[in-house]
Amino acid sequence: MALLKISEPGGRPAAPAHSLAVGIDLGTTNSLVACSCGGSVQILPDHAKHELLPSVVHYREGQAPLVGEQAKAAALVDPGNTIASVKRLLGMSAAEISSMDRVGRYRLDATRDAGAPAILTAAGPKDPVQVSADILGVLVERAEGCLRGKLEGAVVTVPAYFNDAQRQQTRDAARLAGLNVLRLLNEPTAAAVAYGLDSQDQGNVVVFDLGGGTFDVSLLSMQKGVFEVLATGGDTALGGDDFDHVLADWIASRAELDKPLDALSHGALMHYANEVKHSLSSDETVALSYADWSAQLDRQQFADLCKDLITRTLNTCRRVLRDAALTLDAIDNIVLVGGVTRMPIIREAVADFFGKPPLTNIDPDKVVAIGAGIQADVLIGNKSADNFLLLDVNPLSLGIETMGELTEKIIPRNTTVPVTRAQEFTTFKDSQTAMTLHVVQGERELVSDCRSLARFELRGIPPMVAGAAKVRVTFQVDADGLLSVMAEELSTSKTAQIQVKPSYGLNAGSIEQMLKASHEHAESDMELRTLKEAQLEAAQLIDAITTASEVDGKLLEEHDSQRIAAGIARLEEAVAEENSVRIHELTEQLNRISSDFAARRMDLHIGKALRGESIDDAEHPAESSESP
Ligand code: ADP
Ligand code: MG
Repeated sequence: MALLKISEPGGRPAAPAHSLAVGIDLGTTNSLVACSCGGSVQILPDHAKHELLPSVVHYREGQAPLVGEQAKAAALVDPGNTIASVKRLLGMSAAEISSMDRVGRYRLDATRDAGAPAILTAAGPKDPVQVSADILGVLVERAEGCLRGKLEGAVVTVPAYFNDAQRQQTRDAARLAGLNVLRLLNEPTAAAVAYGLDSQDQGNVVVFDLGGGTFDVSLLSMQKGVFEVLATGGDTALGGDDFDHVLADWIASRAELDKPLDALSHGALMHYANEVKHSLSSDETVALSYADWSAQLDRQQFADLCKDLITRTLNTCRRVLRDAALTLDAIDNIVLVGGVTRMPIIREAVADFFGKPPLTNIDPDKVVAIGAGIQADVLIGNKSADNFLLLDVNPLSLGIETMGELTEKIIPRNTTVPVTRAQEFTTFKDSQTAMTLHVVQGERELVSDCRSLARFELRGIPPMVAGAAKVRVTFQVDADGLLSVMAEELSTSKTAQIQVKPSYGLNAGSIEQMLKASHEHAESDMELRTLKEAQLEAAQLIDAITTASEVDGKLLEEHDSQRIAAGIARLEEAVAEENSVRIHELTEQLNRISSDFAARRMDLHIGKALRGESIDDAEHPAESSESP
């Protein structure tokens, strides 16, 4: 992401001063709506002056759902009809939802296809998109009430690590709530926007966002009002909820509660744990009493209980610094985002890690909504004099499968988007008239270790010898992270393309897993790649010689023929033994042995060509489809 000033000579006309656009932070735990009016950005409150709307929905039979505080209260008495943290369910399959649902709280509709999970409630089946739309609907109503008019558009924020499926479902939810989505904005980006306008910082900034269910770290470079994201990282399964779980588990074991807890007791315990966690942000020590058990808990004990969680956040920071090739002392400012960063134990850990205190002058609960509100105002055209374009980065590499089941990265991870990159590929077999394009996502060398996004075929390639056709593959990622892939055969301009559809059934934590795995397997992956490439080269040579012998075998003396056959046999053996050094040696050897034969063939065919005969006479083109 970069904040890029763009001059628009005679560009977009200034919209009327009353354009109504808002920024929405659709959080796992809390959601907010902000609007930039009269030069300042404000969080829009409800009638009771509450600014944070708990992202909780309670469904009732024959009545409108309750959303927010009332739903949170209802969760204690009727957890089965109350859905919290729905953001964690976006992009998940039914199977994944049931596997992450620790207490079996959700009754899933088994009659639906696996792709579209539906949670059974008193008001009928609800999928995560509908639940999110119900939350957004309340924010829209609130905003239209405050602003006395119909909203023209909204900027909705998403975690930087959301994949295409999760982003698409967020858009769908907004549409369902009747919102015109001006764009989706990464949460850390929004926070940077809020700080960028409020203070005149220059240099490198880390945005540390620990919310209810997700953790994001972004490293931004800021200069004269222009931000550029150097790297992003995070963990989609780490947040304040986990601190609640740690406390709840500790209380359950100390208070010797019966296991497993039913949904009702579990809800009550989680609620209590959450209260304790909040108290420890203002008080050094908290007196605990639960059922007929009581005890004291102080901040240091709490920090010890949460040590692993805190270490995980700092490890992610370390990784982001490494991705950006920056050292700790290159960081000028740390911005804290998310309710959890109110916790003194987090502030201290962050300050210790970076060696300087983090910035906290904008309320960490509200900073994302404020940034989104500013951005909405810009996009709707209220701020015509100060136009800027926000760019984000692509969190995982996007690439294509090549021969040998290897991944060729076209857009590396952490590339600024929107972006377009193209690369040329060629055919592997003689007379290959079709090419399968397999689009993959991930950091590993082998396709099987990456995530498969889509497959499509380019047909109608004119028959040519292997390696002669030129196919240009273009990857385009738009500002919302959606990917289009196009393949074009350059001599005929035949094209095929695909828009990568969001694929359901992706575990929210798997992105982080994929990054971890790529670091762990970096060395063995490279070895495997070297081997695969050597095997491929050997196979191509053997193929070429075998075909040539069938066509022009008459050019070979008996003993040449035998030497070549022996060379092929030795090479095939090395290929089977998977020894890349030996394969290289024997490939070179076979090349030498067959070089005379190749030279004789060349003479023959040049002679033929001069006489106007076709080289391909003896070879019959067959329809075959191979990876590029
Ligand atoms: P999200 O972005 O996921 O909606 P928020 O930024 O609103 O989340 O953060 C919600 C989390 O912050 C919850 O886990 C909540 O318990 C925690 N939180 C909010 N205020 C405090 C506080 N004062 N002390 C500790 N945790 C807090
Ligand atoms: Mg948040």
